[in-house]
Amino acid sequence: MKSDIISEDQHMKTFFFLAGILWCHIGWCQDDTNRLPIIDMHLHALPGNFFGPGPLAFCLPTNQWPTKEHGIPYRQTFKRWEKDPTTVDSTCLNPIWSSTDSDTIMVKTLEILERRNIIGITSGPLVHRYFEMNPQRIIKGLMFNLAFNAPPIDSLRRWFVKGDYQILGEVTNQYSGIAPGDPDFEPYLALAEELEIPVGIHMGPGPPGVAYVNSPGYRGRLHDPLLLEETLLKYPDLRIYICHAGWPMIDNLLALMWAHPQVYVDLGIISYALPVKEFHRFLRRIVEAGFGNRIMFGSDQMVWPETIEVAISNIESADFLTQDQKRDILYNNAARFLQFSREEIEGHHSW
Ligand SMILES: [Zn+2]
Repeated sequence: MKSDIISEDQHMKTFFFLAGILWCHIGWCQDDTNRLPIIDMHLHALPGNFFGPGPLAFCLPTNQWPTKEHGIPYRQTFKRWEKDPTTVDSTCLNPIWSSTDSDTIMVKTLEILERRNIIGITSGPLVHRYFEMNPQRIIKGLMFNLAFNAPPIDSLRRWFVKGDYQILGEVTNQYSGIAPGDPDFEPYLALAEELEIPVGIHMGPGPPGVAYVNSPGYRGRLHDPLLLEETLLKYPDLRIYICHAGWPMIDNLLALMWAHPQVYVDLGIISYALPVKEFHRFLRRIVEAGFGNRIMFGSDQMVWPETIEVAISNIESADFLTQDQKRDILYNNAARFLQFSREEIEGHHSW
């Protein structure tokens, strides 16, 4: 009886295998590598007007950043650039445009997650709505800024214990000029360590010149990954990753990763916004220094869902990475960092 079942099962497998070959032969098959799971550590659930009235343009990549013009407030130059990037870079003739409609952004984002088999660590004002639409693919992070919307510690404890959120992040304190070691932030880190909640902290690029646009507290020196050092020693069991990998401070990042083996990074916006040569140079330094098993894919798609696939393709096109190293960045490292079980990992590979 059992052998009958097995042989029937084998017949079915043979059938699907042959059918697969036929479908591929006539061009209907999907490339299998496109179905290998991806973990996006840096996804957002944002309303269409999060960065002001859209649509807003984004050059992929941006080859030229805005420059302060004499006698004109930089904010004006920046706002004009968002609406017409050719005012800064005449070669940017085909930017992508954000949608002004929050639902359109959500539907597009979720469509890409489904098609590319992506699980997204997601944060932003609409995260619960994204989760309701696709609980299988959305893991909820709490977007957090100590200066703007920091909830009391007790609320945070209740939310995490109840399972309302699984990640503390993205922490955007850098936009308010707050360093990771700020004493007022410490109780939140202590709670994350106690509850074993992963923390994603923005250390790296915001929009260029953003201190003159809408975040007067933003400072370039807060890109520096070494600013995390005392915090890591104080909370040695913290599960923490640096969003945007502290770009461009590669030497300090390597020093931090060397001295503190618990620190991971996500690639975030550098994976699509920077000129690809610069992104690859930065990524290559981390990998060739021997830290390829602590780099995680993150898209930071914000209000431009198309950037997710551009970011993936910029990793896939890196000729200095082996296939295994690409899989580590796109899935394996994050699966380890998030402590997915064997069953969960097998599940992701069978979706
Ligand atoms: Zn982000």
